[in-house]
Amino acid sequence: MPEGHVVHRLARELAADLDGRRLSVSSPQGRFTTEAERVDGAVLRRTDAHGKHLFVGLSSDEEIHVHLGMRGKWLRFAPPTGPALPQVRLRLATESVAWDLIAPSRCELLTEEAARALVRELGPDPLRSDADDEAAATALRDAPGAIGAALLDQSVVSGVGNVFRSEALHAVGIAPTRPCRELTTDEARALWAELRRMMAQAVEDGRIVTVDAADRASIPEAEARKVYKQEHCRDCGSAVVTSTVGGRTAYHCPREQPG
Ligand SMILES: [Zn+2]
Repeated sequence: MPEGHVVHRLARELAADLDGRRLSVSSPQGRFTTEAERVDGAVLRRTDAHGKHLFVGLSSDEEIHVHLGMRGKWLRFAPPTGPALPQVRLRLATESVAWDLIAPSRCELLTEEAARALVRELGPDPLRSDADDEAAATALRDAPGAIGAALLDQSVVSGVGNVFRSEALHAVGIAPTRPCRELTTDEARALWAELRRMMAQAVEDGRIVTVDAADRASIPEAEARKVYKQEHCRDCGSAVVTSTVGGRTAYHCPREQPG
């Protein structure tokens, strides 16, 4: 599943192509046709990301809300080479570029008020400069259950998926199974700071690379993380331990992340 860095990068790329432009909006697949017809010809005013949620703000005072879910993706064509594929839920296009949305878990037209209400249900996003660091650290300590589960709970923090939770917990030496209430204030602050650092780096890289590499772009996907889906910890060589936390497989180093 795409984690928050993918969505923030999309918001940036969509804005670079379409900000201030009048959009041709369509739904070749047909499942967004009524909404697309309503906002066809609107001007893109802004794009925004909060966690895994993307918002495309329009001059009609409405927002297109997209969640990619497990399989969703955007395809970019510059210039548009022809009609969109029949499975495209939403096409945002100008004469020079087309962005096609395929297989999202959510694609809907919201009022600005409804979009704000949705965001209020989400926890702080490490990729947002307006996130309150102290409130985020407190939310992590106050969450019920294990820290590995809290990190995947989008109402606690948003944008973190399974790769970031495994790698960030490893970076700060906290086992995913540890109860949130046992974390010290310093540990919670360090974890939040690490999420901010790691996720911002991933936006720049366009992928999640947590190992130290001279050439971050060319390192193979299977070797890019220290514990996530690794047999041995890339820091110390210990056998990586897997456990089910928050309904997903968590990976941690028993030596550097004692339970
Ligand atoms: Zn290790």
